[in-house]
Amino acid sequence: MSESAVALEAYATIGILGGGQLGRMLALAAARLGFKCHIFSPNPDSPAFDVAHRVTCADYSDTQALDRFAADVDVVTYEFENVPAETATFLAARVPVVPDPKILATTQDRLAEKKFVSALGIGVAPFADVAEPAGLAAAIERIGRPAVLKTRRFGYDGKGQAAIKAGSDLLAAWREVGAQACILEAFVPFEREVSVIAARGHDGAVECFDVTENEHRDHILKVSRVPAALSAEAANEARRIAETIARKFGYVGVLAVELFVLRDGGLLVNEIAPRVHNSGHWTLDGASVSQFEQHIRAVAGWPLQKPVRYGRVEMTNLIGHEVEDYRRYLAMPGAAVHLYGKAAVRPGRKMGHVTRVFTD
Ligand code: AMP
Repeated sequence: MSESAVALEAYATIGILGGGQLGRMLALAAARLGFKCHIFSPNPDSPAFDVAHRVTCADYSDTQALDRFAADVDVVTYEFENVPAETATFLAARVPVVPDPKILATTQDRLAEKKFVSALGIGVAPFADVAEPAGLAAAIERIGRPAVLKTRRFGYDGKGQAAIKAGSDLLAAWREVGAQACILEAFVPFEREVSVIAARGHDGAVECFDVTENEHRDHILKVSRVPAALSAEAANEARRIAETIARKFGYVGVLAVELFVLRDGGLLVNEIAPRVHNSGHWTLDGASVSQFEQHIRAVAGWPLQKPVRYGRVEMTNLIGHEVEDYRRYLAMPGAAVHLYGKAAVRPGRKMGHVTRVFTD
């Protein structure tokens, strides 16, 4: 079904595939605009279930459940990029799915994504396709060391990655990432990591939030700061890159582009997330419109808002047991506390976040 058919009334129902904290915050933003949300997730403990009008807890391959879901909603979107392609295609035959599921084929595969970005003349780390262990030595020959071996699919928060240094055993690295199709990337001696959250509406209008600087701990985002410490030229270039990617995809909705900043100010795209993104959580409290509302507006066929940032913003993730400290943040002047309602605390699990806006 064509995306351009979507122009929802305020009482319409938006279907969301995925029930994590991103789905939860999308549903909250949708509710503020008068929409109802129906969350589809296979996980009974989905944080988004707590705040939704209707929920379906079923497998992504359950076509009966998908059929009922499609009949109940006016449009479908997703909160995570690893929605099986067949699920998205099945739904797209019944109801508009935004953004277009064909984009997932590119963003679910690091090799396809790297090729897409570099074909746009945008910088990426030198990379090589590694289909089997025998190809790894040749790839190292071409890319050099240090390098990073990454699975083509299903990698996140540093999972499915192995560093290859001077003395590293190649076969051990191949096994470490699960002996599957990979890409080898040159290690980038970046000065900082940044991201751009961009939204593109049905009318083709693009709005980018200010560039965010991201600090990771154990490969997991820990702190985002806005604005990023970049020259005005580099910040404009980062936003131009995100806008170009959104336009070339014919994208509708919010996407995130993660970039490495080199010592000379040069930029390389690391990754594209076709969804709202952890590094955009600051927009909930730090800007006139959040990434979640922008996504809902785009999906509904409503106009985007031009975001106005309220000041310098810092967002800190509460990871694993850190969430137990939430009362300290509740007592902190100016701190906005967001808890995701996850009962089980696990190391590395994103449990909530805290945002502080500084208007000095
Ligand atoms: P990714 O899952 O690709 O976003 O990678 C997770 C993190 O690993 C990034 O945020 C970087 O801190 C680091 N990383 C990934 N690729 C590279 C690379 N080619 N060079 C240096 N660091 C990298």
